[in-house]
Amino acid sequence: MRVAVFSTKPYDKHYLDLANSGQDHEFVYFESSLRLKSLRLAENFDAVCVFVNDLISEEVIKGLAEQGVKLLVLRCAGFNNVDIESADNYGIRVLRVPSYSPTAVAEHTVALIMTLNRKTHKAYNRVREGNFSIERLTGFELSNKTVGIIGTGRIGASFARIMNGFGSKVIAYDQFPNESLQNILEYAPMEEVFKQADVLSLHCPLTPETFHLINKDSLQLMKKGVMIVNTSRGKLIDTEAVINGLKEGKVGYLGIDVYEQEERLFFKDLSESIILDDKIMRLMTFPNVLITAHQAYFTDNALTQIANTTVQNLTGFEKGILPEQNEVTLEMVH
Ligand code: NAD
Repeated sequence: MRVAVFSTKPYDKHYLDLANSGQDHEFVYFESSLRLKSLRLAENFDAVCVFVNDLISEEVIKGLAEQGVKLLVLRCAGFNNVDIESADNYGIRVLRVPSYSPTAVAEHTVALIMTLNRKTHKAYNRVREGNFSIERLTGFELSNKTVGIIGTGRIGASFARIMNGFGSKVIAYDQFPNESLQNILEYAPMEEVFKQADVLSLHCPLTPETFHLINKDSLQLMKKGVMIVNTSRGKLIDTEAVINGLKEGKVGYLGIDVYEQEERLFFKDLSESIILDDKIMRLMTFPNVLITAHQAYFTDNALTQIANTTVQNLTGFEKGILPEQNEVTLEMVH
């Protein structure tokens, strides 16, 4: 198939070309993200391949359909950036990579927690400057703490297992509890998880229901000094509310790999630019905030699996053997 690949970075090209060797898909790579103003780039393609920050709105879907595009393949699991209803209306099938390496995201979540807790990023800089003082680097032991998890799907479950290994008490909320986890965690209502957690980690998808799950009211329920970690989707957190929480000391630590308005920032080198997003600039001033730019998934294993599944999705569609488990359907958004 002839595929327009959007939001391409050199590593995407590397892994997709590798996965495509022996197959005959023609990939044309664009650095640009897919949105209304870049729609014309998709002319004369059978399929488009996108990532987390491409914005596939109704107008984009309509334009793709008019240009003859029949398939949208996502190089990710989340599909909150795609108007699935419109895709269905215009007859564009949507395939994703539902699971590539849950452990990659779970382990990065632990990296954020441990960095915030034991302040290894500060220690690294101090020692490099010949400052061997350990003052103000005090941490806490996770074996004495309660870790709360919202969403115990593939990533949440993997994270729960790691935290169980740390000896933490793990409590969780999920609309669909996973019985196989009952020996390592305790399910509780969401409010109870908010109230009890010393460390709260978000692993549910972004849906209308979970939008701004962390807000002024839910923060009220939490322990003073709580650590909040988000490696799921930025819009799960009301950034303004969390900034106020940090100012008041209610939030003791914040670790985020995703951010509400990351589309304009993440995956770009803006080191020579004036960054106009005041909220992220404010977050960056707090000594107890750690931000990574959507890299939780970024391991060799995950990139290989993403590329392989993407190529399988294209080949399956072309041969009329759609990998059903990878299709995003209307039922999944209703
Ligand atoms: P999954 O579908 O396996 O699990 C999601 C879980 O959330 C399910 O158990 C579901 O029942 C639960 N859930 C849904 N709505 C909920 C709600 N309102 N409250 C509580 N729980 C709810 O998904 P996954 O593979 O574990 O991925 C989780 C999320 O991680 C994805 O949606 C994606 O947004 C994010 N993600 C981030 C990265 C990254 O690099 N930062 C990479 C991959 C995925």
